[in-house]
Amino acid sequence: MEHPENDSKYTGLTVNSGVAQPPSVNPYLNLRPRRKPLPPPSELVEGIVKGDITALARAVTLVESMQPAHQAVAQEVIEKCLPHSGNSRRIGITGVPGAGKSTSIDEFGMHILKRGGKLAVLAIDPSSERTKGSILGDKTRMEKLSVQNDVFIRPSPSAGSLGGVARKTRETIVLCEAAGFDNIFVETVGVGQSETAVHSMVDFFLLIQLAGTGDELQGIKRGIMEMADGIVINKCDGDNVDRAKLAAAQFRSALMLFPPTESGWTPEVLCYSGYYGLGIAEVWDMIDRYFEFVQGNGYFDERRRKQARYWMYETINEQLRNNFYQNPDVQELLLAKEQRVLSNELSSFIAARDVTDFYFKMKNEK
Ligand code: GDP
Repeated sequence: MEHPENDSKYTGLTVNSGVAQPPSVNPYLNLRPRRKPLPPPSELVEGIVKGDITALARAVTLVESMQPAHQAVAQEVIEKCLPHSGNSRRIGITGVPGAGKSTSIDEFGMHILKRGGKLAVLAIDPSSERTKGSILGDKTRMEKLSVQNDVFIRPSPSAGSLGGVARKTRETIVLCEAAGFDNIFVETVGVGQSETAVHSMVDFFLLIQLAGTGDELQGIKRGIMEMADGIVINKCDGDNVDRAKLAAAQFRSALMLFPPTESGWTPEVLCYSGYYGLGIAEVWDMIDRYFEFVQGNGYFDERRRKQARYWMYETINEQLRNNFYQNPDVQELLLAKEQRVLSNELSSFIAARDVTDFYFKMKNEK
């Protein structure tokens, strides 16, 4: 439109019309694809089954993602990989921080590679719930393994509850097996609930212990010892050899007081040194003996079947929990009830019943 002051009655003044300003935001930005498009599940499966590590890593990233679109692709990939899975030795490794897990995994892993196997190292790290970052399974901790070809190292999935993190690791096992990894290590810190989760997804559970503190047996929870199929005393080197042997003897006599294991296998106690690579072959011979034993008596298959059932229920529990807690109406009501419980106006049980009743009613109306 012509500017009003350009009218003939205003003389001596002309106002030029303005020039359109370029936008301050690049208009083409939205046209650019933001992220790589999701690969079709069949392409990922094809790559995984061929042993392509890039496809495997991408699929694992999708498994770990919280986004529903990623989850959908991940579930389809897992489903298609299932027929190719199962063909591995799944070994859980636990021990307190400093017990020498990464040093030992480096050595155990090299031993496996020498025998011609392939190895995936996964981890379940409960501390990652708090820190949102994880230490276990970190490549930098396994110097020898991290530069090998037939090795896939993946740190712990970090987001979500322990159950959720553990489920993702279990799904990753399926993918690794489909990619031809015939040895799977699942590492965890021996300090809490996570051993139970690891125990429920492995065939053999190895507990790494240290000697020399004098109170070895008090230091560990009975439950963890009960789960162990093998206990190994690390750092049996230098002037620590006698103490390590003494600790081994103490563990052996403690184990004798335990009820017989479900598998019929008697857990063995061995000494070794991860740092100096001493006794590694002996530890592996024990694990070989275990597999021979449980494959002979049928316990191997039975344990895997039971684990599959356990994970079915775990997944149902997780989905129910998520559906409940992620509902915005439930969240709002929970907040209100929580306040009243905190100020002693309402009992915990009545508050819980009110919220669950509300949830069930809402579900029934749908
Ligand atoms: P993690 O926290 O359980 O993974 O333990 P690391 O593998 O990081 O080991 C903790 C420390 O113990 C490191 O300083 C290692 O060098 C040391 N270490 C590990 N294995 C041995 C061993 O067999 N003998 C000795 N003397 N030291 C070891």
